[in-house]
Amino acid sequence: MSVANLESFTRWIADYAAVVAEQAEHLTDLDRAIGDGDHGSNMARGTVKAAALADSEEFAGLDAYVKKVGMTLVSTVGGASGPLYGTFFLRMAGPLAGVEDAGPAEVGAALRAGVEGVLARGKAEVEDKTMYDAWAPALEAFDAAAADGADLATALGAAAEAAAKGRDGTKDLIARKGRASYLGERSRGHIDPGAASTTLLLESAARTLG
Ligand code: ADP
Ligand code: MG
Ligand code: MG
Repeated sequence: MSVANLESFTRWIADYAAVVAEQAEHLTDLDRAIGDGDHGSNMARGTVKAAALADSEEFAGLDAYVKKVGMTLVSTVGGASGPLYGTFFLRMAGPLAGVEDAGPAEVGAALRAGVEGVLARGKAEVEDKTMYDAWAPALEAFDAAAADGADLATALGAAAEAAAKGRDGTKDLIARKGRASYLGERSRGHIDPGAASTTLLLESAARTLG
């Protein structure tokens, strides 16, 4: 059975920081087209700090760890995406309280709480051309796979694949939230940077958790 413990979660954040560092220029290019060209540097700055937490601190549990990751992202990423990613991790803490080995049910509950946090904070709807267009289908695919009896790695793989489809789908949309919405019709034809970084986070989860 594949389960995720504190060590897997720290590997997730380390892996994500490495991927974001590698993809920072790409994320910034996406943001240059429809925003202000800082998404890659915002995320790189925050994820490097979040990844360093595990080297300098002992965490009592998964919930304490994701909470600190969330606080770190809120205070270091900045922009629109910092509070959104921060809220995602802060909200994950609820369902992970007292959980040492998280399987599909626990990770699914944490994912749901996190995505609900993104929704509450950003108030984006599906097809507003935001990161929510990656989060929403990812959560749905995770739940469907878990309901079918998939193990954690398989359910996360399905979530990552659905996120990538959602990300690609943002290309044809007109932005209705965030900076890109100022462009109106001119935002069409470009992938949303936040949907791209969310897909990377879920791909990273599929590699490291479970
Ligand atoms: P900023 O736009 O402040 O420079 P970033 O460039 O770091 O911040 O992040 C931009 C991303 O934030 C967008 O690509 C989009 O995915 C996401 N975003 C912006 N506003 C919202 C919102 N209201 N709800 C969900 N996601 C949002
Ligand atoms: Mg930006
Ligand atoms: Mg900015």
